[in-house]
Amino acid sequence: METLRRDLVIIGGGAAGLMAAAQISSLLSEEVNSFKPSVLLIEKMMRPGRKIGITGKGRCNLTNARMWDEFSVHVHPNPNFFKNAFYNFSSSDTMDFFRRLGLELTVERGQRVYPKSMKAQDVTDTLVRYIKRCRAVEISTEVSVDSVSSGEYYKLNLSDGSVVESRMVLVATGGLSYPSTGSTGDGYAFAEALGHTVTARYPSLTALTPKDYKEFAGQLYGLQLKNVSLSLIVNGNVAQEEFGDLDFTEGGIEGALGFRVSRKAVLSLSQGQKVSLVLDMKPSLSESQLRERIKRESSTGNNNVKYLLSKLLPRQMIQPFLTIHKKALLMQSNSKAVEELPKLLKNTQFDIDSYVGYERCVVTNGGVSLGEVSPKTMESKLKKGLFFAGEVLDLDGDTGGYNLQIAFSTAALAARAIVNEFKRES
Ligand SMILES: Cc1cc2nc3c(=O)[nH]c(=O)nc-3n(C[C@H](O)[C@H](O)[C@H](O)COP(=O)(O)OP(=O)(O)OC[C@H]3O[C@@H](n4cnc5c(N)ncnc54)[C@H](O)[C@@H]3O)c2cc1C
Repeated sequence: METLRRDLVIIGGGAAGLMAAAQISSLLSEEVNSFKPSVLLIEKMMRPGRKIGITGKGRCNLTNARMWDEFSVHVHPNPNFFKNAFYNFSSSDTMDFFRRLGLELTVERGQRVYPKSMKAQDVTDTLVRYIKRCRAVEISTEVSVDSVSSGEYYKLNLSDGSVVESRMVLVATGGLSYPSTGSTGDGYAFAEALGHTVTARYPSLTALTPKDYKEFAGQLYGLQLKNVSLSLIVNGNVAQEEFGDLDFTEGGIEGALGFRVSRKAVLSLSQGQKVSLVLDMKPSLSESQLRERIKRESSTGNNNVKYLLSKLLPRQMIQPFLTIHKKALLMQSNSKAVEELPKLLKNTQFDIDSYVGYERCVVTNGGVSLGEVSPKTMESKLKKGLFFAGEVLDLDGDTGGYNLQIAFSTAALAARAIVNEFKRES
């Protein structure tokens, strides 16, 4: 098999790899010098951007329009590492970039940005069309990089038996979530082989499964609770409190609220700590206000617990609520049960004993250690010419468009540094 030689290989054609290719194309097109570096993007799937296609429930929440101060709160574990990348290519740069290429956008609740068409595929198509039009980056699909080693050139062994040598490599292989999209964590092995530390990885933005969930799950599947509050309790202490909407799914508790607490919950469970979630279904009312309300409802003559619950909870929640609180509600006299109601409505506790894994989580917590990567360029501090971008790094965001912006910003910063390197060497 032949050995190809390139100036840069981008490994992975997901959000980060495609954005890096697009930014390199754009920066090179601004160059008056006639140097023309050879850049190859290698994507193992049949088409690039498979994961982008399933983001935002098929609508792709491609960024969040918040400014840094508010944005950074949603970046973990080290927003400071990300600051430079964000300022170099912020969410408004992402929006300008896509709009300039003809993709109309819309900003929704919580500053979430979507394509106006509500089609995630349009985001991938916009990127790929632009890269192809510029002709600065060659895209090769259905071949994966099996290993990377360093020497005078980086040497990449490909799944078809061929070898590519390259002066620079950008690892943009993503994390471990939804492996069916091609993100199987290969980049961690490449990083380790090249001397990098990879921190422990955990599924994040995932469903948390209550103990004995099977007992009442059937009654809860598909139920969405709006404007409730959820507290994460770790070893008896409140670790996080959130307000919003949550969903009960086959896997357990998720939706915006469940996802928001899942990062800390999964970490705590992995450390063997005791984790529970306490749901307040009436956060706008205090216990005494609820008691008053229940008194008013029962003054109509019906003091039955089920009747009272029908006035206070969504219909689908009533039976599971009775099942969860059967000791306090069904195994007591009606008057005692009514007495208990305000407290229970504000404190439904789910002891969590597991969570949904990489097969269906949104993002990977952990990755290539940030201390070994320059926040100014995304270049390895250990190996010259080696760059990282996107989820392969130990950087993850909350739901709301933060993860794609992390991919876009880190990719754009790496692209700038790579083009500067091309110029220096030309
Ligand atoms: C269901 C779901 C919904 C999501 N929704 C949103 C959302 O709405 N907004 C948001 O901000 N984030 C969302 N995310 C998270 C977001 O999609 C990721 O954080 C982001 O795609 C990471 O980009 P990346 O380029 O680093 O990795 P990826 O997008 O995972 O891309 C990595 C690419 O590298 C390729 N690859 C891997 N190994 C190799 C190899 N050895 N050789 C060649 N190619 C390789 C893969 O095939 C893949 O195409 C969602 C994630 C999921 C799973």
